[in-house]
Amino acid sequence: MNLLSVNAGSSSLKFTLIEMPAQNVIASGLFEKIGLAGSFYTIKYNGEKYTREVEMVDHSVAVKVLMEELINLNIISSLSEIEGVGHRIVHGGQEFTSSVILTEDVLNRIAKYNDLAPLHNPANIMGVKAFMKALPNSIQVGVFDTSFHTSMAETEYLYPVPYEWYEKYQVRKYGFHGTSHRFINKTISEYLKRDDLKVISCHIGNGGSLAAINSGKVVDTSMGFTPLAGIMMGTRSGDVDASILEYMNKKTGKSLEELTNELNKKSGLLGVSGISSDSRDIETAAAEGNERAILAQEIYAQKIANYIAMYNNILGGADVICLTAGVGENSKIMRKMIIERVSSLGIKLDETKNDFRGEFRLISTEDSKIPVYVVPTNEELMIAMDTMDLASQSE
Ligand code: AMP
Repeated sequence: MNLLSVNAGSSSLKFTLIEMPAQNVIASGLFEKIGLAGSFYTIKYNGEKYTREVEMVDHSVAVKVLMEELINLNIISSLSEIEGVGHRIVHGGQEFTSSVILTEDVLNRIAKYNDLAPLHNPANIMGVKAFMKALPNSIQVGVFDTSFHTSMAETEYLYPVPYEWYEKYQVRKYGFHGTSHRFINKTISEYLKRDDLKVISCHIGNGGSLAAINSGKVVDTSMGFTPLAGIMMGTRSGDVDASILEYMNKKTGKSLEELTNELNKKSGLLGVSGISSDSRDIETAAAEGNERAILAQEIYAQKIANYIAMYNNILGGADVICLTAGVGENSKIMRKMIIERVSSLGIKLDETKNDFRGEFRLISTEDSKIPVYVVPTNEELMIAMDTMDLASQSE
């Protein structure tokens, strides 16, 4: 069956058309500046890239254009060939513990969590509604970033703050990147042929989070109430003392909103280096001796290493560490810097094995206490797998 894996943002829509269960990517693309001047899209198919500028006032128009193009480019011959659409949905609160078939009623329940992810959930829902209209006979499935983390216990997800913050306002750790961590856990568990693995999954991309997973269940994860928490990231600070906000508000007159925005968009690698949020630029600058770039790399690696050590403790000793996403899959320098900082756990990198990018590989030495693998993530495929499973259950 052909399935679409979709990620709708406020002004964008990313799609992958996948033939399942063969896991064959037929086409993919990105619609940008939806609802803005100069909207355009790119579709990749058969090794060719098609880019066109078309006025797209909203997501419904973008989806209509996508459907027309899939037929015009002979990617499919009729819309009935798309049997299902899987949608990335950022926040499912405590309620959505796994992927679900989307109906109007379920969408209303998801909308209850819009306040928890105001930049993402309303856009995700807009995308779903556009596909419901364009493909009324296809199954629509919601796959949540938060679901995989709903197995965490109170001891992990509660913040030590007044209890009513949680009771009245749902302030707790939710965690994100759940679809990626679930894919990593599934891939490594299948590869090692074990379903009782204790895994430290490290998703290190522009955004980044770690998850401690025991026998397929998340025990703890580093992002929190929002994706701002945890390790240092490309532009996010990760964990900082919350009192900084009041202090900076008094010192600079900037509002809480402005300062939170700076923690999200102007901090992390970008904030410390003053150069870029992209670890490739930081690596180039560090190689040229730029001190702030070197400092940014060192803080970055140390924060990740500290979480690995903490999660090894929470798991009572991990069986395997997996590195994934843009930096984890591609940067041998950052991998080395991180692994060097957990040497007290007996974890050892094999530098010859580490000299590559973008593939599934073991990068630790034979005598490393915990094996370290690079495992490329594939959230689009995980979404398609869930969509296929729910489609076959509903038949
Ligand atoms: P992601 O958010 O998973 O797409 O990761 C994006 C980040 O991966 C970029 O911002 C880069 O910092 C990083 N990245 C991608 N390719 C490389 C590479 N070859 N070397 C170092 N970092 C890379």
